[in-house]
Amino acid sequence: MAVTHRRATGALDVDARTLAQELRSAIEGEVRFGAGDRALWSTTGSNYRQLPIGVVLPRNVDDVVAAVALCREFGAPIVSRGGGTSLAGQCINVAVVIDFSKYMTRVLEIDPDRKLARVEPGVILDHLREQAEEHGLTFGPDPSTHDHCTLGGMIGANSCGVRSVMAQSYGPGPRTSDNVHELEILTYRGERMRVAPDGAGVPDELAARLRELADRYGDLIRERYPKIPRRVSGYNLDDLLPERGFHIARALAGTEGTCVTVLEATVHLLDSPPCRTLVVAGYEDAAVAADHVIDVMEHKPLGLEGVDEQLIQDMTMLGMHVHDLSLLPEGRGWLLIEVGGETKAEADGRGAEIVAALEKAGGGLRGTKIYDDKASEEHVWKVREAGLGATAFLPGKPDTYEGWEDSAVPPERLGEYLRKLKRLADRYGYESALYGHYGQGCVHARWNFDLSSAEGIATWRRFLDDAADLVLSLGGSLSGEHGDGQSRAELLPKMFGEELIEAFREFKSIWDPDWRMNPGKVVDPNAITSNLRLGVDYRPKPVETRFAYLKDGGSFAHATTRCVGIGNCRHTKGGVMCPSYMVTREEKHSTRGRAHLLWEMLNNEEIPLWRSEEVLEALDLCLSCKGCTNDCPVNVDMPTLKAEFLSHHYEGKLRPRHAYAFGLIDRWARLASFTPALANAALRMPGAKAVAGVSPRRNLPSFAPLTFRSWFEQRASRAHGGTPVVLWPDTFTNHFEPEVGAAAVEVLEDAGFDVRLPRARLCCGRPLYDYGFLTLARRYLLRVLDALRDDIRAGVPIVGLEPSCVAVFRDELVQLLPQDEDGKRLAKQTFHLGEFLSEHVDGYEPPPLDRHVLLHGHCHERATKGFEPVGTLLERMGAQLDRPDSGCCGMAGAWGYEDSHYDVSVACAERVLLPAVRDAAPTTLIVADGFSCRSQIEQLGPGRRAIHLAQALRLARDHGADGPPGEFPEDACRPLTVRRTRVRPATLAAGAAAAAAAVAVTSKRRR
Ligand SMILES: Cc1cc2nc3c(=O)[nH]c(=O)nc-3n(C[C@H](O)[C@H](O)[C@H](O)COP(=O)(O)OP(=O)(O)OC[C@H]3O[C@@H](n4cnc5c(N)ncnc54)[C@H](O)[C@@H]3O)c2cc1C
Ligand code: SF4
Ligand code: SF4
Repeated sequence: MAVTHRRATGALDVDARTLAQELRSAIEGEVRFGAGDRALWSTTGSNYRQLPIGVVLPRNVDDVVAAVALCREFGAPIVSRGGGTSLAGQCINVAVVIDFSKYMTRVLEIDPDRKLARVEPGVILDHLREQAEEHGLTFGPDPSTHDHCTLGGMIGANSCGVRSVMAQSYGPGPRTSDNVHELEILTYRGERMRVAPDGAGVPDELAARLRELADRYGDLIRERYPKIPRRVSGYNLDDLLPERGFHIARALAGTEGTCVTVLEATVHLLDSPPCRTLVVAGYEDAAVAADHVIDVMEHKPLGLEGVDEQLIQDMTMLGMHVHDLSLLPEGRGWLLIEVGGETKAEADGRGAEIVAALEKAGGGLRGTKIYDDKASEEHVWKVREAGLGATAFLPGKPDTYEGWEDSAVPPERLGEYLRKLKRLADRYGYESALYGHYGQGCVHARWNFDLSSAEGIATWRRFLDDAADLVLSLGGSLSGEHGDGQSRAELLPKMFGEELIEAFREFKSIWDPDWRMNPGKVVDPNAITSNLRLGVDYRPKPVETRFAYLKDGGSFAHATTRCVGIGNCRHTKGGVMCPSYMVTREEKHSTRGRAHLLWEMLNNEEIPLWRSEEVLEALDLCLSCKGCTNDCPVNVDMPTLKAEFLSHHYEGKLRPRHAYAFGLIDRWARLASFTPALANAALRMPGAKAVAGVSPRRNLPSFAPLTFRSWFEQRASRAHGGTPVVLWPDTFTNHFEPEVGAAAVEVLEDAGFDVRLPRARLCCGRPLYDYGFLTLARRYLLRVLDALRDDIRAGVPIVGLEPSCVAVFRDELVQLLPQDEDGKRLAKQTFHLGEFLSEHVDGYEPPPLDRHVLLHGHCHERATKGFEPVGTLLERMGAQLDRPDSGCCGMAGAWGYEDSHYDVSVACAERVLLPAVRDAAPTTLIVADGFSCRSQIEQLGPGRRAIHLAQALRLARDHGADGPPGEFPEDACRPLTVRRTRVRPATLAAGAAAAAAAVAVTSKRRR
């Protein structure tokens, strides 16, 4: 292997089109060189953006080998990628991206005796940990991104985490590199080898050159490398030293894809203590807390984290984790200390020892608490893990960025560092919460840098120099876990000196003599201030929008910048966000992918504004479930962005058929209500589904013989006089399941309310948003406000049964009509039924229900805080509750009916919900407040039906504590019995004409 010091610089002349063609015929995996895909892979969690040449998703090692060979033939640089969550710009480049996260994701072997695991590079850390836990083992370093970052990426970036403290005390060491045993690697020139400890597996000549390098620079390495647990900056040349076992695999870890491609890794596992206890100690301030980390470390905790007052203030400002914050003991800076044991008593005993020791030491201690139940522990950890979300976008404050976010110092100097860093930042007018892995001296921050003006960028650059000098003066490392990439690489000469930088250069050249592996990162890097995603030329295309983007200062462009790229939306289970990613594992079908593509649409000439088919395709599988509005740490609001996009995309052109079929469902339903039997027969005619764009595998719901409104108007009047409440007769309740509305009326009347329906026939317009009919949606809302104005101003509560309709009033209304004071009032006084009864009706006593209940929450109910109260109410009734983490049911209004969505819709439901439904005993009541969720259960969980909370409450009232007899309680859905009025043909004709006219007007307006 000849060494040349050729450095790839500037633009490369690569014949991308031919390369793509040849790749396609050479590999089994996917090859994507289109504008949309290149845009999608151009950025991650960092401040940087570089458009790649193209993207390869290999299915196996042979694919990687073939892809690298072809790239070499074409002279194309390559960069490896896992979850794409790294923060220093190290996994983006003007290169062919080889993304391991879609297919090469297996745990290949766990050897519990040797405590080793063999994995493919794209395996998600938590997937490895789950399998390791079956043997009582775990992988030590655990980045906060553990449920979606990959082992390949962790090895590339040399990641660490909360439990790095455990890996330091009880395992081979704190960083991922310390926990690497063996790597199978591929060089750019096509050499493939399995690199094992003591230089085994490496050709003699190569090993000799590495030994020679280590010998030549040995003394300098010993002198200049900081002796701290979190030295992540620079190459791990120290691992080549004889006293560290000439561990070539460890030296390659942390090279950020600049030297080799990792094809397979064998890593160490540690014993995972089965029982854990959390101690929280509150101090005068964070720096004082930091002064005590050495005392705590003597007790060999599993994790030792720090949180400062500013983080808590930021979270309070955002209303985040308010309950969890009340769990913290008194103080203005906190240490979170996790200890473990074989038994709970042992773990608690260790916790008590630490508390006693800290109390004895005193020194600014304000209070301590021990948490020994899992739920409270998880709540406190959430406070710490919320760091990024709490600090990225604070109302009324400038946006914040990474860029000096993971520096590390010797833990014994952490207090001093925090004080000095704060003073330095004050001088620059920067501020940030300072929290993180205090036990190992690593500090996290997000600063209010100005990254879009020349002066701001120059100031940031000066700050970085000063901050680097400060951290180095304390014997620290520029990076304590995120790596150098482009963010810090230019500062490395300060830390290591020019001679060692030359050693890095030689090391890279030994592996990558052509300098085509992730060029411009770590060694001879691009300037810190180049390739910025914002930067001085940031100038998004100007747009006029339908929504107000209140959280984003009225800016659609800012709303697309809101995604900070951390990839929580790429986790594969749990929560609601993001159902389409969970079942497709496709970047473009994640919230991040969609947000990034929308950003590109505004900033990339290859992606046309609003008309882009790439963006349309990415948004198509968004279920508008609002999972992201709640679960994403910075609350990216994709349903709003999608509706905005569709509104513009279809301006001046017709939408697909299903948009008219479902978007205008209120009108069709009204028409059908004149002769429901005829309408149902028409829906079942051959070809009807095709006309509406409905999957042939779906059953369309039937129009009810009697609408809820008709029933309400005609029923024998009940005694009134209670407190007035408006019950919202949504289209689904009114036309398809009026029995839900009837049950709700009885429940509310039982609770002492005088139930009213709006006098006018109204629709909140929910389905319109799904197809971008925003002008019409606005008109619907104005009608609602007109019709309800008196009740709104009188403060009469509006109670909704269909969660997505409640969500329109809570959410979309204020975004579409931000200046309307009645709109704001309506948003505040609209409630989900369960929420209303549970939290807003003093003294409400629900009837007892002694029955198993399987409770599934509608996504919009979860997103608008309506779900928890349903569970609370059912528990108060005495129900034995099973709340599977079922996320989105996959139906999402009419989304799952559409032919092109059927498979994804079913896959979403099959993830958790349907297996839970199938497992439920026949007598278990299935409660789901969403009409679409109930339809999904009925259509895909054969023989099972779900009911609304209102029906469950009425059943309980009618049948007493034992609950209804038998399996599915048919009388929960008893048909409404009031006679319908006869419809005159003239009325019918008028109704048909009105609906047709409405469609014509809508098509004409085309938005
Ligand atoms: C909110 C947030 C919190 C974070 N918290 C932590 C934390 O607690 N601790 C921590 O250490 N990091 C943290 N990170 C950074 C990041 O999540 C971790 O570094 C993570 O391990 C990266 O994994 P990934 O799969 O996303 O890798 P990527 O970002 O895809 O890649 C990381 C590097 O590895 C290289 N690479 C990937 N695959 C290969 C391969 N097969 N062969 C060779 N090189 C490869 C890439 O080229 C790149 O240089 C955080 C990031 C965010 C946004
Ligand atoms: S959408 Fe939210 S969760 Fe997903 S990457 Fe962006 S910020 Fe993270
Ligand atoms: S609305 Fe749902 S499907 Fe769409 S991006 Fe958000 S979480 Fe994903």
